[in-house]
Amino acid sequence: LAMRLAREAAGDLQLYPDPDASALKECLSDFYGLDQSEIMIGNGSDEILNMAFQAFCSPEDGVCFPDITYGFYPVIAKLNGLPAKTVPLREDYTVAPEDYENISETVVLANPNAPTGIALSPEDIRKMLEQNPGRLLIVDEAYVDFGAVSVLPLIRDYDNLLVVQTFSKSRSLAGGRLGLAAGNPLLIADLETVRNSTNPYNVNRMTMAAAIGALLDRDYFAENCRIIAENREKLVAALSSLGFSCLPSKANFVLAARPGTDGETVYRKLKEKGVLVRYWNRPRLRDYVRISVGSVSEIDELISALSSLSEVSS
Ligand SMILES: *Cc1c(COP(=O)(O)O)cnc(C)c1O
Repeated sequence: LAMRLAREAAGDLQLYPDPDASALKECLSDFYGLDQSEIMIGNGSDEILNMAFQAFCSPEDGVCFPDITYGFYPVIAKLNGLPAKTVPLREDYTVAPEDYENISETVVLANPNAPTGIALSPEDIRKMLEQNPGRLLIVDEAYVDFGAVSVLPLIRDYDNLLVVQTFSKSRSLAGGRLGLAAGNPLLIADLETVRNSTNPYNVNRMTMAAAIGALLDRDYFAENCRIIAENREKLVAALSSLGFSCLPSKANFVLAARPGTDGETVYRKLKEKGVLVRYWNRPRLRDYVRISVGSVSEIDELISALSSLSEVSS
């Protein structure tokens, strides 16, 4: 359905896209139960995060995020000349809400976090919103559909909350580039000012059509998310049986470590077998690899590649 609509839209490419994205916003507001004035769309959520930094942050205040999180936050902070403060995750890689008590900078949280996959509860996010009602909290819910709880409904209770989501992960539309922000209409109006001053045509016709198709097909979406959450638990069980320990992920990846090997070694050996995972050569992540969930056959392939590694090393 998404592809058919996008192909149809491709026939109208002599026309600019609707700068108000009315048709798409109507579907978004139906799906999320929000008013159109509470939604902005962007060319991927990365663009929205950049616009939010432009709209709401100044070199005097700057931004603040955990020491381990999505790598693009420090990049866009630097691009916008914003000082970036980091707050260490706890020993168990969870976010400690109390550590943000005295932070006056705009706080950005990926929830679930990347690359840990660990999610904060809505109660903890509520606590952080109430620590300082004059401080903006941006919650980046790129992976929320894989099993965490969205704080989107809280935008009605807190005017200092901006929720950002993407069509790149749970809706399999990374190549279409679509993200959305949800928040109080005053926040959204400020974001729209930045968008209209940068590129009012930031989302193209084919992407809008594909996104409408994706939003209408609720069953496909729900089933896809369910399968990934189910496969994640299969992956974690299989990894555990091979001696790996995994952080408790609510995302479409797991961060896994096995005593006695570092992440880079696991990465290199798996790469030789044609399986790509990710490692980080930095203090708190050195022992880990991040493994995308994938299909059951991909999980089987990973597990057999890992088993043959352990035979070689033991
Ligand atoms: C993938 C990802 C994004 C970017 O998504 P796009 O919509 O593709 O720009 C933002 N934040 C996090 C945490 C992500 O994992």
